Amino acid sequence: MVFPFADDPDTACIVCRHVLDKEKKITYVSHDADDGMWQFLCGESHTEEDARLVSLFSVYRMDETVGQIADMPCGCFIERENGDVNWGEE
Ligand SMILES: [Zn+2]
Repeated sequence: MVFPFADDPDTACIVCRHVLDKEKKITYVSHDADDGMWQFLCGESHTEEDARLVSLFSVYRMDETVGQIADMPCGCFIERENGDVNWGEE
């Protein structure tokens, strides 16, 4: 398997508990400008209590489509309509 991210597979990143519990698909990804932290969230509204720290590799295992945006630069974010479409598609 080729890991598509330039970051290490065990890089810590943020998912929301909905995504971690597989209640919701990832529909929002941001790559923070200040610390390079990846965040993978669903479309719900979130508080800090909803955030979970996991490895980048475990996110990729949960949803391989995030590999499509692995080269997204810091300071960017992307959204999609739902978990069944590719990133960057309407
Ligand atoms: Zn969520």
